[in-house]
Amino acid sequence: MAKLLIIGCGGVAQVAISKCCQNSDVFEEIMIASRTVSKCEAMKEKLEGTTKTIIKTAQIDADDVEALTKLIKDYAPDAVLNVALPYQDLTIMDACLAAGVDYIDTANYEPEDTDDPQWREIYEKRCKELGFSAYFDYSWQWAYEDRFKDAGLTALLGTGFDPGVTSVFAAYAKKHYFDEIHTIDILDCNGGDHGYPFATNFNPEINLREVAAPGSYMENGKWIEIPAMSIKREYDFDGVGKKDMYLLHHEEIEALGRNMPEVKRIRFFMTFGQSYLTHMNCLENVGMLSTTPINFNGQEIVPIQFLKALLPDPASLGPRTVGKTNIGCIFTGIKDGKERSIYIYNVCDHQECYKEVGSQAISYTTGVPAMIGAMMVVTGQWKNPGVFTTDEFDPDPYMEALNKWGLPWQVVENPVLVD
Ligand code: NDP
Repeated sequence: MAKLLIIGCGGVAQVAISKCCQNSDVFEEIMIASRTVSKCEAMKEKLEGTTKTIIKTAQIDADDVEALTKLIKDYAPDAVLNVALPYQDLTIMDACLAAGVDYIDTANYEPEDTDDPQWREIYEKRCKELGFSAYFDYSWQWAYEDRFKDAGLTALLGTGFDPGVTSVFAAYAKKHYFDEIHTIDILDCNGGDHGYPFATNFNPEINLREVAAPGSYMENGKWIEIPAMSIKREYDFDGVGKKDMYLLHHEEIEALGRNMPEVKRIRFFMTFGQSYLTHMNCLENVGMLSTTPINFNGQEIVPIQFLKALLPDPASLGPRTVGKTNIGCIFTGIKDGKERSIYIYNVCDHQECYKEVGSQAISYTTGVPAMIGAMMVVTGQWKNPGVFTTDEFDPDPYMEALNKWGLPWQVVENPVLVD
């Protein structure tokens, strides 16, 4: 029925590709295109013979808009799924516009070089005006709204788990459970253990930048920023047990804050073990998280990129990670004049994911919603001209697809709230 061009072939992409190949009725044909084409060919070899989906591969540098536009025009897919890095969001959106094809991704834009003076000027103005200082924000991609609208194309942003499913949970809560939502707490718990003293579950550069940034949350439409890791809570997660979690800045707060202005407070918490935090603090203190190039023995290196080369590849953690993730949202508000609170969440088992697709649960919980988002767009269930996040469409078909494709969820009334 549909042809999908998938850009990137890392941890998340490999799950999205496997799930597209399980869903051959929708994805009749896919092309895997990435910087290192040998990874695309290895995926094709692994999956061919197990699926009816026809798999093609290509080498592409997605920073090169001209080359990417040519690839999209030559292959003529129904949509492009960007599961490369947030650095490529804008160039891939440009190429989709030039080729006249819908666009889907899992993470909002951030620049690779945060010292770029042109970007920095806009960033510093945004920090002052909005009040949060994370390197990533939606303004860059929301600025494409008119161009996608005029071209009659859809851009679906952030269809991973968080952001992605968490915002679909918010739309679902609003549609079925509340007349008014007052607070949203997004809780991301990884109870998995990979046995390494320190490793990240998705791209280390992106992950460490996110976690090392100051935390922030939205209250009454305004951002409140706090020092990194300075708000800590303990929560007892179904399927995992008690874990410490920390308030972080996260991109869905920005989209939900814009699209559901009636919500009075939106926060995001993520669990971290002590070993992770100790390593991260130490790496930050010695400058290893810096994105500013330094000269080492006559060669220019970027410390965080060098660190990435030393750390385990997240795609290799699958066989050794045991335990479960629990990601979801607690909503409070009013229904029929009475106070109500619900918790919608998914529990996912690292080893079950590994058995099914050869990946750990973080890649799985991102790659499955990436496939579902692409399915929503190519089947026309979520198709409007413009730029959208996942809270802006009917949540019901997406929620149904989560149950069908490996991320079943549950709704609990009167959960323990986070103070
Ligand atoms: P990886 O680093 O494992 O994979 C990234 C892939 O993109 C690699 O195959 C890489 O190629 C490729 N790539 C990088 N630069 C280019 C380029 N210029 N042109 C073409 N291909 C390129 O990352 P992950 O799989 O861990 O993460 C993928 C995305 O998922 C990220 O945007 C991340 O932020 C997002 N994410 C979203 C989550 C959510 O819940 N919403 C959660 C986790 C991740 P090469 O093999 O050559 O390095």
